[in-house]
Amino acid sequence: MRWSERQREMLQAMGVRLFEPPASVASSPPDTAAPNALARTPSPALAGAASPPAAAIVSLRPEIATLDWPSLRDAVAACQACALGQSRQQTVFGVGHPRAHWMIVGEAPGEQEDRQGEPFVGPAGQLLDNMLRALGLTRDEAPPERQVFIANTLKCRPPRNRNPDPAETAQCAPFLERQIALVQPRLILAMGRFAAQALLASDEPLGRLRGRVHRYRGVPVVATYHPAYLLRTLADKARAWEDLCLAATVVEGG
Ligand code: URA
Repeated sequence: MRWSERQREMLQAMGVRLFEPPASVASSPPDTAAPNALARTPSPALAGAASPPAAAIVSLRPEIATLDWPSLRDAVAACQACALGQSRQQTVFGVGHPRAHWMIVGEAPGEQEDRQGEPFVGPAGQLLDNMLRALGLTRDEAPPERQVFIANTLKCRPPRNRNPDPAETAQCAPFLERQIALVQPRLILAMGRFAAQALLASDEPLGRLRGRVHRYRGVPVVATYHPAYLLRTLADKARAWEDLCLAATVVEGG
């Protein structure tokens, strides 16, 4: 991928040194563990694995696997499958192009997202927007190759932003599964440990999931740092940029 002057300026604004994308795309090794929610179904994490039969896509709440966008949105808004339904202000469904080439998956809504009903609107969201802009992408209205779809692993805010509970992740997983099935992205960018581990049915640390291309039901997945982490750990921004370059290479090749 070649970077324009504009992109170079944006990268500098992000505090990122210019990085040459890797020449080749690595495959992930076979998945080993399936400890959490999205792992309930036959492992999607095997690189190059064929998609499981449609009937296997959702095992916990099978009715969700057939919903269209409006019904899915309504189902999320009405969900009381776990205790977060009681503590949330509102659900955070996700935003973006319904057939986006890039799908961004984060962890869970925070305080501001819970208040506004949109993912990544706090400080981490501003960094995410800058990262997207550096790639020529946006959450605002644009054609599907430019407008991303942003969703979270959990649709409700955990109280005090605590880590998602495995049972909550399990209950919420069918919603994300259905969103991915409807969007049919060319690439999923999993931001942070929780998103990456849930999508890849893995308990490996993020550091070991980065740097290679995994598969979720046939869709390439690149794992990278969560923007909130990058705000605290500036030194890893360059690594995050490497991940974005890898992701861009995959999308361009797809
Ligand atoms: N962090 C996330 O993972 N998602 C959001 O929507 C906001 C912060």
